[in-house]
Amino acid sequence: MIQASSGLFQVETAHGVIECMARAGADPGAIVPGDRVLISQQPAGRGVIESMMPRATRFSRKVAGRRQDEQVIAANLDQVVIVLAAAEPAFKETTLDRYLAAAEHCGLNAVVCVNKIDLAPTADADAARELAGRTDVYARIGYPVIMTSVVTGTGVNNLRQALEGRVSALVGPSGVGKSSLICAVSPGISLDTREISESTGKGRHTTTCSRLIKLGNGGYVADTPGMREFGFHQVSRDELAWCFREFRPHAQSCRFADCRHVTEPGCGVRKAVEQGLVPRGRYEHYVRLMEGGVSQSNRLVIC
Ligand code: GDP
Ligand code: ZN
Repeated sequence: MIQASSGLFQVETAHGVIECMARAGADPGAIVPGDRVLISQQPAGRGVIESMMPRATRFSRKVAGRRQDEQVIAANLDQVVIVLAAAEPAFKETTLDRYLAAAEHCGLNAVVCVNKIDLAPTADADAARELAGRTDVYARIGYPVIMTSVVTGTGVNNLRQALEGRVSALVGPSGVGKSSLICAVSPGISLDTREISESTGKGRHTTTCSRLIKLGNGGYVADTPGMREFGFHQVSRDELAWCFREFRPHAQSCRFADCRHVTEPGCGVRKAVEQGLVPRGRYEHYVRLMEGGVSQSNRLVIC
């Protein structure tokens, strides 16, 4: 299913897109973009969604104001592209690590995209090297890193290739250029844009329906309300270490099976940090997340 709006669903089939309704009595809110569905075709042309396949992955957000509830906003994504800016807003590893942990928790592959590389660093070779070193940490632990600029077009082809044939969501803080990147990789698509803060002069894209945008290269990008809240995700303390993928091989050699890698003796992860096998900054962010942000239920809110 590629689009949900006012109780009507656009379902892509081998015979083109068919407009469908939910079955009478079914909860239409339970079907989200990316869901694989079985439909029956009615004589009038519209279809009816009869049933839904189990989801391979779910992309969810915390429901505002409630600590426990998650709302699934897209299903069966192949990956999330975590977009940060080289500057304006400044590149922050703490932000990236939180989004990465949330992606790992959802079982989603993550690609790191650093946009706005036309700003700041190019003017200054040292700053450019520094940013390259900071992003290289992520490439070395296995996340593809793409540097882009919508202004100069640098890297836009690399991003287009990363999206090709896959279903992705672009996530990241506001203002980093997610909407601009979607337009750059697929010129001609229209994001539903509306000025919502004229006083600051900043335009913002607002979405009125949930959909997957079909790109020219066989890929899809999710354009759903609430995508910005992705990352407001609940992870238990026991699950957090697993969300730092480079810890996994070293956690196997911890003395205690339930080691949290903070103060325990014989910790394989801490040893790996000392040996330079796990980036120290990542480990420090892990400890910071373990120490802070605990909700009543002893779950960490990764936001
Ligand atoms: P979103 O909130 O992440 O969707 O960000 P937008 O796509 O709305 O972009 C926020 C602002 O950054 C807009 O004013 C864009 O024109 C600007 N912007 C986007 N990409 C780039 C870039 O590569 N370089 C520069 N200098 N500005 C950019
Ligand atoms: Zn340990």
